[in-house]
Amino acid sequence: MMLALLLAATLSPSADSLRITVRGRQSAIPVRTESHTAFVSADAVAAALGGSIQRLPNHRYLVGVGGVAFELADRVPFAVSDGRLYPLVAAARERDGRLELPVQLLTDVAPRAGARLAWDPVQRTLATKETAAQRSVAPPSRRRVIVVDAGHGGRDPGMRGWDTNRTPVREKDITLGVARQLERELEQRGFAVVMTRSTDTLIALNDRGRIANRSKGDLFISIHVNAANPRWKQPTAARGFETYFLAEAKTEDERRVAQMENEVVRFETEADAPKHDPLGFIINDMAQNEHLRESNDLAESVQAALRRVHPGPSRGVKQAGFVVLVKAYMPAVLVEVGFGTNQADAAFMSSERGQRTLATAIADAASEYLSRYEQRIGVGGGR
Ligand SMILES: [Zn+2]
Repeated sequence: MMLALLLAATLSPSADSLRITVRGRQSAIPVRTESHTAFVSADAVAAALGGSIQRLPNHRYLVGVGGVAFELADRVPFAVSDGRLYPLVAAARERDGRLELPVQLLTDVAPRAGARLAWDPVQRTLATKETAAQRSVAPPSRRRVIVVDAGHGGRDPGMRGWDTNRTPVREKDITLGVARQLERELEQRGFAVVMTRSTDTLIALNDRGRIANRSKGDLFISIHVNAANPRWKQPTAARGFETYFLAEAKTEDERRVAQMENEVVRFETEADAPKHDPLGFIINDMAQNEHLRESNDLAESVQAALRRVHPGPSRGVKQAGFVVLVKAYMPAVLVEVGFGTNQADAAFMSSERGQRTLATAIADAASEYLSRYEQRIGVGGGR
């Protein structure tokens, strides 16, 4: 909610200047609004805040503000700082040879990335923090929050198939069933759980990630059901489970699954459909990102846990550009728990016992992953 208010305040088209306070001194820099997004000149920001701009080859920039450096590229809606990827509401852009920054980089992203900047949404003022931030080495341990996302819902049924009794199955029912069991399993393990939906309703792909961010989730797990390509030799024979993390699709099959899962956008209204293709921006250096390594690690855990219980074969850890994962600023995976086009898989996934089995395995994997993660960052007893 805070983030939404803050963004709304930042992006208000009536804003025509950004107030800045440095050591009690006020100044203002002009804001240019385009498609409801506020931009400021990077030069003006650097002058007002005492930051720096370094031009790199290939339309890339290193921008230093509040003691934190961000790597940006012309027309790429992401900032990279300290190996972390931060999605931007709009891309930084070159205009008449000068760099323009989305105001959100300063008011929202930079403070989150540890910059000595504070945004006051009421006064609409960006202020530098004078005292050196007393940042503890290890964050205080707290209850971990896991966001569970049941794929599809409402007017988007997802894929359809039949189980062994020729009973029709719909993806949206299976994903909700598994997600509800997963919620219970995770809560039993001491985690806090946020569901993107807990009824038969359609949530826009972009909003699913937003819900995750607002709830300050530590992990994002999206549940889906696979469908065989009808052009395959024996489409109904294909079965098994696979886990995706967000990166550029490398194979035809990965592209097929991403296309299928991203298709829900056509059920969404004009207002919540993405205005640009976010997948085009998952570029090379993002793959180096720590975030992606964490997601890959989580995906490996999920896949290993499912291998122990699933009646179908493991199809491995895969990568593709899922819109639902793009918006989550946390390790995030999408699990295809089986093929709805295979009768045996469909029967397993739609039975209560099967759903509980899948949920238990995924909960075990999340728990294993988080304890490994906490050991790595040096936090003990993190829940
Ligand atoms: Zn799906």
